[in-house]
Amino acid sequence: MSTALLSVPPQKISAQPPAAPALPAGLFSRRTKLIGSENAFRLGPQIRELESRGLKVIKCNLGEPDFPLAKHIADEVKRQIDLDLTHYCDPQGILPLREAIARTMSARRNLRITPDRIVVFPGGKPAIGLTQQTYCNPGDEVIYPSPGFPIYESFATYLRAKPVPLHLREAADFSFTGRELAALITRRTRVIILNFPSNPTGGVVTAEQLKEIADVIRRKAPPQARIYSDEIYEDILFDGNEHRSIACLPGMAERTIIASGVSKSFAWTGGRVGWAAFPTAEEAAVFRNLNINYFSCIPAYNQMGAAVALESPQSAVEMARMRAAFLERRDMMVAGLNAIPGITCRKPGGAFYLFPNIAGLCQEIGALEAHRHLPAAMKVRTSPATLVQMFLLWNYQVATMDRRSFGRLGSEGQHYLRLSIATGLSDLEIGLLRIRAAAQDRTGFAKFIEEGQHLC
Ligand code: PMP
Repeated sequence: MSTALLSVPPQKISAQPPAAPALPAGLFSRRTKLIGSENAFRLGPQIRELESRGLKVIKCNLGEPDFPLAKHIADEVKRQIDLDLTHYCDPQGILPLREAIARTMSARRNLRITPDRIVVFPGGKPAIGLTQQTYCNPGDEVIYPSPGFPIYESFATYLRAKPVPLHLREAADFSFTGRELAALITRRTRVIILNFPSNPTGGVVTAEQLKEIADVIRRKAPPQARIYSDEIYEDILFDGNEHRSIACLPGMAERTIIASGVSKSFAWTGGRVGWAAFPTAEEAAVFRNLNINYFSCIPAYNQMGAAVALESPQSAVEMARMRAAFLERRDMMVAGLNAIPGITCRKPGGAFYLFPNIAGLCQEIGALEAHRHLPAAMKVRTSPATLVQMFLLWNYQVATMDRRSFGRLGSEGQHYLRLSIATGLSDLEIGLLRIRAAAQDRTGFAKFIEEGQHLC
């Protein structure tokens, strides 16, 4: 304890911190109230609370590979710090990394992408909001997959663009047809977001589906509409699935922004290195200037690590190891979930998420009924799947995500959970046992609802 604190008479030390002053009305802009969030992060404090009670939580909430950063990448980062690559650098991304991205992206997609069209961001996420900000005026339309990464919808709302969810159907392996997309495209469409392999469903796209999607865009989308192809799971594919980018189809490269990064492929979520290839150098220059405005640049030593990650032959070995682990977990979990009455789970072709349908479980356990009887104000803030999610977390210590966390608009009546399998096999086995027990615990669920503490 510091001497300053010791000198305060004990009776003057209040056990309670002083109450914070009330915030003045109108402190926050109206826009601030419109932004959504990524609930996978928002669950953190609840998990910490449970852990502080000595409980072990099985964390299937975050999309974060549980493997350490590969040594060859970590060594390069350390080496660059020792070389003092610790200062401001090119806001667009350092040239050696942009060159490595251009080479690897071009080779994989058989395109000719040049480093002047590439911009590096602090992770895969920032380009999503910056893209909408750059191409949309208020009222312009953003088409995005739903269920989909929540930031797509969150930013459209924030920017007062019109969010247009493109509903993925379970029966179509969580993809969509050209016709379904065509129905949503209007003259106000400015951004069409695609995400294969997909979060949260693990869906991949077939060559025929992608061709249909490209045909519709070519025919129907206004010339100002850009495709944002979020390919951050491009390396995590199973069962012989290949990565397919819409940019490879005729007429698409000219209008597609291809986005990816190091978070998933190299299990490097804390590196905060992501990138996007823009259709033209002029567009890349606009994003370079946004980087200058927002954060100046991304740590150059991490960017050098990313360049090594992309081009070192060692990376393929590490990735294969990671994919094999995900595959084993996927097969174990899909079989285990399907053996639980009330749950059906498709086998995802990519990414590291399972998206089981829990409609039967919601019915069995009483979640549909419990939701029906909630007061109106509460009802809109939750869903039957949310009630199950919270019950699993608080009573069985399994952290999952509900359907609503992946795009709210039009999600009513859809009963799904997302489980990340970026957690060790033995923990997943425990998780499965707990989910099985929870699914049969109608009494515990009724009590949980009655207590009413964690309903959303
Ligand atoms: N896009 C998708 C589809 C994602 O799932 C994620 C991360 N969960 C991101 C982008 C953002 O990745 P990053 O952590 O690199 O910002």
